[in-house]
Amino acid sequence: MVHKKHTERTHEELGGSSAAIWSVCTGSVFLKRTIPQQEPTEHTQKGTRAHEACDYALEWFLQHKIDGRSKEGLTKWIEDNTDDHEMFESVIGYITFIWVDVLKSYITDKSWGIEDKFTYSDNIRIGGPTDFWTIYIDNKGKRVLHVVDYKNGRTEVDIIKNKQLGVYATAIREYLLQNGKDIDYVLASVYQPKSSPPNKTTTFKLNQLDSFKKQFLSAHRKVYIEKKPKFKTGSHCLWCHAQSICKDYNKSASLQSDLMILESEIEDNGLPNLPEVGTLSNEDLYKIYKVTKPITEYLKKVNAHIKSLFIVNKPIAGLKAIQAIGRSNWIEDTDIVATKLVDKGLTLDQIFNQKIKGQGVVKAHLKDLGMKPKDIEEYFGQLTLKKPGGIKVVEESAKGEPIVNFDEMILLGNIDETEID
Ligand code: SF4
Repeated sequence: MVHKKHTERTHEELGGSSAAIWSVCTGSVFLKRTIPQQEPTEHTQKGTRAHEACDYALEWFLQHKIDGRSKEGLTKWIEDNTDDHEMFESVIGYITFIWVDVLKSYITDKSWGIEDKFTYSDNIRIGGPTDFWTIYIDNKGKRVLHVVDYKNGRTEVDIIKNKQLGVYATAIREYLLQNGKDIDYVLASVYQPKSSPPNKTTTFKLNQLDSFKKQFLSAHRKVYIEKKPKFKTGSHCLWCHAQSICKDYNKSASLQSDLMILESEIEDNGLPNLPEVGTLSNEDLYKIYKVTKPITEYLKKVNAHIKSLFIVNKPIAGLKAIQAIGRSNWIEDTDIVATKLVDKGLTLDQIFNQKIKGQGVVKAHLKDLGMKPKDIEEYFGQLTLKKPGGIKVVEESAKGEPIVNFDEMILLGNIDETEID
């Protein structure tokens, strides 16, 4: 029952604990190579001691269940090898969780392991040591792999699509596949004594495992074959050890601080109460100017995405899609337009300026000649062609009948491709 100490273990670059980072930002792997390994803090050392106590005590307890060897002294050992009562309770809680919830209080015919290290292969080193794993046949005859990760910290761990567990599960499955075996599904658990409830479990179906594998292999290719760092900022940056030297992170942090000046109270109507433009300092004006382009582009994409959701029948509550008012263009033969407008008393200068002038300008001249707006509109019916409008998304309370038949609009070509990209 000899476990290698956690501090003596080698860490894979594409290991489980940092999977949420490198699977999104492969640049982090390259940057981490350039910085010295982090010195353990009191907090991380405590976590390591708790992990080691869990491993040793769990193995002792399970061996007792398998071959009946004495567990006398186990509680005393845990007491002696934990820092305080909280850590003692954590170890006891972990063993109880594994025995009762994971193993359902029996271990016969189950394969299992503590801190076993699996990687995809000797060359594809995606994986790492799994705190606990077991494989068994469930009561429906399905082969189940259950992987468990112990977390000593207080930061709530999100179990759904947890990439760390995804790395362990896919690495163990690779090992099984290479040995001609497979599983039907995975149960993935986090045991986190300082969170409530302390244990969370989710299910990964095979398609989820395939999707994890695809994503992890793609990152592996970028790091070891293409060898081109690709940076992507996001919430994962919070946990990235290379954050302090990352230019992309610094750029995005500075953009965020520039945007802070736009933060304002939200009014009763749910809209922000933005500061009066005239009250902004030159420094603030410059900061806002700098972020205008990326924000405008982002808003365009958001708008296009909203429209595309309506088109595929996934409307957003509170909004509706209506047909926009179409654009009116001069008919193609502008000589006819000119002849008719000259008949009405306009001069060629009032109609042309290198090319034909805008309809508003021409209408203003006709109005000056005493033509009534209603007659102008009617007359323009002969001179212009109206292009049907595309989709416009507006608040549900706004005017306009919601579009019900998007297929017809697509067939009629009324939806501009650029609007739905
Ligand atoms: S801070 Fe963010 S963007 Fe920079 S390397 Fe780390 S994960 Fe990537």
